Amino acid sequence: MLKKENSKQLFEQAQSMFPGGVHSPVRAFKSVDGPPLFMKAGNGCKIVDEDNNEFIDFCCSWGPLILGHNNTKIKNAISKTLENGTSFGTPNKLGNEIGELILQNHRFLEKLRFVSSGTEAVMSALRLARGYTGKSKVIKFEGCYHGHVDSLLVKAGSGLATFGVSTSAGVPESFAKDTLVLQLNDLAGLEKLLAEDQDIACIIIEPIPANNGLLIQDHNFLVWLRTLCDEHNILLIFDEVISGFRVGFEGAAGYYNIEPDLITFGKIIGGGMPVGAYGGRSEIMAHIAPEGPVYQAGTLSANPISLSAGIAALNQLLQDGFYSDLEKKTQFFVNLLLENIRAKDYNMNVQSIGSIFWLSFSRKRIQRADELDSSASDLFRSLHALLLEAGIYLGPSAYEVGFISAAHDYKDLEIAAEKINRCMDILFS
Ligand SMILES: *Cc1c(COP(=O)(O)O)cnc(C)c1O
Repeated sequence: MLKKENSKQLFEQAQSMFPGGVHSPVRAFKSVDGPPLFMKAGNGCKIVDEDNNEFIDFCCSWGPLILGHNNTKIKNAISKTLENGTSFGTPNKLGNEIGELILQNHRFLEKLRFVSSGTEAVMSALRLARGYTGKSKVIKFEGCYHGHVDSLLVKAGSGLATFGVSTSAGVPESFAKDTLVLQLNDLAGLEKLLAEDQDIACIIIEPIPANNGLLIQDHNFLVWLRTLCDEHNILLIFDEVISGFRVGFEGAAGYYNIEPDLITFGKIIGGGMPVGAYGGRSEIMAHIAPEGPVYQAGTLSANPISLSAGIAALNQLLQDGFYSDLEKKTQFFVNLLLENIRAKDYNMNVQSIGSIFWLSFSRKRIQRADELDSSASDLFRSLHALLLEAGIYLGPSAYEVGFISAAHDYKDLEIAAEKINRCMDILFS
């Protein structure tokens, strides 16, 4: 049995101080058996908790750690920058350095603004889209997550109504009603909506939806979004907080060769430190203050420590073959799981793209949030407990995707696949 005494004790103490004992809800292990494990160290693809249990980690801090834990170059870059202080609240040369690094290697970005989280990037991009177009409504898709921005914490209402219904207390109806919600892949619904409503500023989408399982879209659907946005003078925002620098240096925009008007970043861009950014064409970005009238600011935005981590990470991603190697490794791992699933005809699948994968409890390809089967949660809860015992750490929910990092080598992946397969066998025995 996995030792959990120390995590259990720490969690009890944390609960007396913090709501639910955590600082971000999914960490609380609500959908799996608790207590949540308190991690104290990570190295390469492995993490160690306060009871000294070691795991092969497929959560990777929810995506930022594409180079694994405790990457030497990132650590050294942070240490070096730290010698000179942590923040000045002034322009700093590292900003120019990361700006050049990204803009010279991303064909769809001309200008960028750095912020401190993915949520902040999305919130700012929405304001910019509204300021630029002079229109007020936003279209989003059910199953896409865009951080905890008020107006995006909404889901589709009942029936044919597309007005958003708040999914969080504290979001006034007046905010939710400016967000229109559609199912992914619903072209007819989108065309109808655009024909009826002239007040839409932007469409925001995770081009590779990875927050509700991995709902990989058809290329055609994304191309059609671009076309419709052009026809209706609406901005297309790709929320690439997960997919950015993950499926290639140019993210999903590059992967699908589609130019969005604005792109939001987070996670990988900060090399494991809190960073977000948004960017697009100069002509649109010129509307941001102080160049333009759309206000957006940040005390610790583009602080030197975070940027040096980002620079050290991105430079490694630009090495020849980085993404193709990572994708090959992921395919190797995914195939080992699929072989077991198919040989035994389990009602499961592994959906994957780039170095992202998702274990789904259904044989068929899933592309929309409303195709997810709620019985998956119970199966996942059991599987998750078995996996922890076996030394495998996955995000604690059936709807979280897994990430492979450059620090997972073939041997690690073979061992992990072997263990996951054995856990599946127990689950379905
Ligand atoms: C994680 C995420 C966000 C929010 O980023 P935070 O840094 O957690 O605020 C926004 N959009 C997507 C697609 C994400 O995956």
